[in-house]
Amino acid sequence: MSTSGQLYSIQERDLALDARREELKQVLARLADESALARAREQLAQAQQELAQAEKAQRDAEGEVEDLRAKIAPVEDKMYSGTVTSPKELVAMQEDVQSLKARLRKLEDGVLDTMLQVEAARETASQRQSHLQDMETHRVQEKEDLSQRKATLDSEMVAIEADRHSLTSGVPEQALELYGRLRLAKQGRAVAKVEGGMCQGCRISLPTQHWQQARAGAGLVQCTSCSRILHVS
Ligand SMILES: [Zn+2]
Repeated sequence: MSTSGQLYSIQERDLALDARREELKQVLARLADESALARAREQLAQAQQELAQAEKAQRDAEGEVEDLRAKIAPVEDKMYSGTVTSPKELVAMQEDVQSLKARLRKLEDGVLDTMLQVEAARETASQRQSHLQDMETHRVQEKEDLSQRKATLDSEMVAIEADRHSLTSGVPEQALELYGRLRLAKQGRAVAKVEGGMCQGCRISLPTQHWQQARAGAGLVQCTSCSRILHVS
């Protein structure tokens, strides 16, 4: 095989390695990324906090109702006990009880509101809990898949590296150096095929003499336009 042919084969391995390294980077990033789970946990914690606050508001409101009822009962007992004989005092007590009971009704309505809020908060917390559980289950599976993909990529890269290593034997040191330099400068593509007299690296038509020289395989010929090593298969 000509040197350009050998370099082209090496480049195919290098591009295959590049693609796997890039994918591996993404696989590792996804393996490490727990941000979606963290977000779901945060949202659940927030919902649980809101539920606790709503439950406290309900207890407070119920406490106020109980306190007020405890305040009304003895007044009513006294009113109906027959011990108060002054009509003026009785009327005052009645008015007092009426106003206390009006306040009680408002407080009882307030308790109903807090109960509805607790119910809504409980529903939200329960939804977020099951959402988090779904995500956790999904994440376990995802990590398993990603780990498997990582193992596959690792072993493929070992095989390609070995293949590449055996391809480099017999390639002149100078040619490998030029290849390495061009690979860095040309986004990984140091060798370009010539098809229809055209460099496939930059799509420029080459002088006939130039690509015929490349085809002859005597020494490396570079594209006059993009400098890539020309390979005529
Ligand atoms: Zn070119």
